[in-house]
Amino acid sequence: MFITLTLPGYGRIRPGTGVPVDPERYDYRRAAMDALHFSKLLDRWFQNLRRCAGFKVQYFGAIEAQRRLAPHFHVATRGAIPRQVIKAVTKATYVSIWWPSLDRPKYVQDTPAWDGMDYVDPQTGIPLQTWDDALTELDKNADAKPAHVVRFGSQTDAKGLIAGVPETDRAVRYLTKYLTKALAETFATDGRVELAYDMHIDRLYAEVRFLPCSPDCPNWLRIGIQPRTVGPGMEPGWCRSKAHSREHLGLGGRRVLVSRGWSGKTLAGHRADRSEVVRQALTSAGIEVAAVDRMAAQVVDEDGNARFEWAAVIPGAGTKAAMLVATILERRRWRAQYELAKAMANAHDPPVDKQFGSLQRAGR
Ligand SMILES: [Zn+2]
Repeated sequence: MFITLTLPGYGRIRPGTGVPVDPERYDYRRAAMDALHFSKLLDRWFQNLRRCAGFKVQYFGAIEAQRRLAPHFHVATRGAIPRQVIKAVTKATYVSIWWPSLDRPKYVQDTPAWDGMDYVDPQTGIPLQTWDDALTELDKNADAKPAHVVRFGSQTDAKGLIAGVPETDRAVRYLTKYLTKALAETFATDGRVELAYDMHIDRLYAEVRFLPCSPDCPNWLRIGIQPRTVGPGMEPGWCRSKAHSREHLGLGGRRVLVSRGWSGKTLAGHRADRSEVVRQALTSAGIEVAAVDRMAAQVVDEDGNARFEWAAVIPGAGTKAAMLVATILERRRWRAQYELAKAMANAHDPPVDKQFGSLQRAGR
C-alpha cells in the first residue's frame, strides 16, 4: 500500500503558494514543535499500525516538506491493511511531550552565564533550575499538561499498489527521489525572489531556532532551565542539531524510514553493497582499487603475511598530546625516509653511511 500522512493546518494557506493568508495568525510555534517531533509521531504510528493490523508491517518511507513547509510522510507498506484501520490508527495516534512548559521564555535578551558548575542568572548569579528538578516538579503537579502534543492532520491518503502499474511506478519515484534531495530543495524557489515565501520560511525558522529539540538542547537556557547535560559554551539559538537550521526547519533526523524486514538484508549486507558500488565507480574511472584498500585488515605483504598488526591502544599509556606528538614524529620520519629514498634513486653516489644508518633504524 502507499500511504501519505500529513500534519494538521496551522492557518489558512493561499492556494498554490504555500504562504499563509494571515501570517500574524498562523501558528508558527505549533508548526515548529510538530516538525521537531514528527519522527516520534511516525514511530508511534508504526507501533499502533502493527498492533491493529495484527502482523509486523514492513515499510519503506520518506519524509519530505510540503510547500507550506510542514513535513509529510510517504510510505509503502507490505501487505494489505483495510483503509478504515489505517484511518482509525492515524486518528488515534498522538505523542505527548512531557517537558517543562515552553510558554514563557525567561532569557530573551540576556543569556545565562556558566559558573563552572551551573548556568546562573546573569544579574543575580543564582543557578537556574536543573533539568531533574524541573521534571520532578512536573511529576508532582497533578494538573500538569504536556508541553506539546503532536497529532496527524485529517488528510490521510491510502491506496493499494500493484506491481507493474504506472501509478505504482509514480509512488516508487515519490519515495526515492528524496533520497538524494536535501530538504531545502523541496521548497527552494529556484532562485526566484518570492518575498512572501521567504518571509514564511524566516518566521518558521525564528521558532525552530529557539525551541528545544531535546532535553540536552541549549535552548532550555532561554526558558530558564538548565539542559539535562551541561557544560561551558552553551548558548540558546546555537544548538548543534541541524534540526534548528533554516535548511532543515525542524527535521534534523532521519529522512528515510525503513523497517528491518523490508529488504531481508542486514546492515552489513547493505554496507557490502554500498562498498561494491563505490569500488565499481572507482574502477570505471581508472582509479586503482588496491590503493583504496591499502589500510584494510586483509591486505598482505609480498611474503603473504598480514600487512598490519592490530593492537589495542592502551589508555593511560600517555596523554593525548604525547600520542599526537608521537604520530607527528612518525610522519616526519616517514617523510624523511621517503625523501632519502628518492635521493638514493637519483644520486650517482651512494648516500653517506650516517643517513643510511638512520634509514635502517627507523625502517620496519
Ligand atoms: Zn537543539
